[in-house]
Order: sequence, then C-alpha cells, then structure tokens
Amino acid sequence: MKVIIVDGLTPLQEYLLQSKNIRIKYVTCGKKNCICRLGKRHGPYYYIRKKTPTGYKDIYIKPPKKPLNLKYEVVGKSSIIVDVKDLKEIPDFLRNCPAFIIKDEVTLNES
Ligand SMILES: [Zn+2]
Repeated sequence: MKVIIVDGLTPLQEYLLQSKNIRIKYVTCGKKNCICRLGKRHGPYYYIRKKTPTGYKDIYIKPPKKPLNLKYEVVGKSSIIVDVKDLKEIPDFLRNCPAFIIKDEVTLNES
C-alpha cells in the first residue's frame, strides 16, 4: 500500500544523517553498590550528538538494527510516500508524522 507521510521528509533526512554518526557509550550510574563501580559499566547506549545554539545535545536512540530499507518518493516540499505492505513497516522515527493511506493494494477482479 502507498502511505503518504505528511512532513516525513525532515525526520527521514535526519534519520539517514544520524545513522552515519551514531556514537556509543558506556556509563557508570550513581548507585553505591552497583557493578558499574567495579568496571562493568552500563551500556552500550547509542546516541547522536546534535549541535544546538548553546552547545551540543546528546539524543539517545535505539541501537541500529539494519539499514533503512524503505521505498519512498518525495512529494511536495516535505512529505513522502512510502510503499509498505503493512502500516507496521513504517519506521518508528516517522511515527509522529500524520500518515494517510492513499492507495490500498487490493486486487480486484474487475470484469
Ligand atoms: Zn551502575
């Protein structure tokens, strides 16, 4: 089915950009008797570092699983049309955008 994702282009571009700049870190927490104090730190945590007017901001993301495999076309200034079999295939980073099914691929035997 084809689904139009309104204002989906920016998150998509950000995602593609981010996937090249994913950083990984291991951290210690504040708990007194935690194993991380003995060197087994928590993690990995995946994040990207974004530049803001006041400095840098780390945005945590889910660990990357596989490269984006999404057929899409850009329509207008900021929307995209994706071709998916199921709405569940729409990646998480597009979840905040309004999405509308514009073509449901149902095979009809027209005669
Ligand atoms: Zn800890």
